[in-house]
Amino acid sequence: MNAITTTTGEQYGVGKIVCVGRNYAAHAKELGNEVPEFPLIFIKPASALIFDGMSIIKPAYSDDMHHEVELVLLIGKNLKNVGPEEAQKGIAGYGVGLDMTLRDVQNELKKKGHPWTIAKCFDTSAAVSDFILSKHCSITPETRISLTVNGVVRQDAPLGLMLFDPAKVVSYISQKMTLEPGDLIFTGTPEGVAKVVPGDILSAKVAGIPELRVKVEAE
Ligand code: ZN
Repeated sequence: MNAITTTTGEQYGVGKIVCVGRNYAAHAKELGNEVPEFPLIFIKPASALIFDGMSIIKPAYSDDMHHEVELVLLIGKNLKNVGPEEAQKGIAGYGVGLDMTLRDVQNELKKKGHPWTIAKCFDTSAAVSDFILSKHCSITPETRISLTVNGVVRQDAPLGLMLFDPAKVVSYISQKMTLEPGDLIFTGTPEGVAKVVPGDILSAKVAGIPELRVKVEAE
């Protein structure tokens, strides 16, 4: 089982990875999508996880792999049907992650009305930093999330632009499935998503959270 370790040494086995789509209005619009009324939810397998310093391997069947930098929540409690206040208490830690997406594959799936799974589930498609415990870190609406590719800024936005904040996202998901300790939640990406190619170096940052650096390689 994939496990994550916090900066202070706590270990969590990772169960499921739940992701939010279109959680920033400007990103929904850049891909020609409506702004959602409820959080749009999908799942990645835990087998997709990689960590700081590792490589993202682009599958041969895609020619348009995109970066999506996202704040990632580490769940610390069993949460079922909880409101935002209880949800907030269930967030044990924060990390920064990359929800790597095969945009060409996703566009084909969207056209057919199929689930996005094949565009989102490949090995190495969920990169995460080390996690810091919530009590050691303060996330505010002004906190910025950013991504550089080869040193050039591609994404940079305040977390306050999220349509559904972390407490609302966790509360919503807990109405649909039980969240368990070690589950991870990718909270959606701001605008600026774009293609990466083998050789690119990605650096994802959220102020106060350990940085995530990964390289892209060909399969
Ligand atoms: Zn995403």
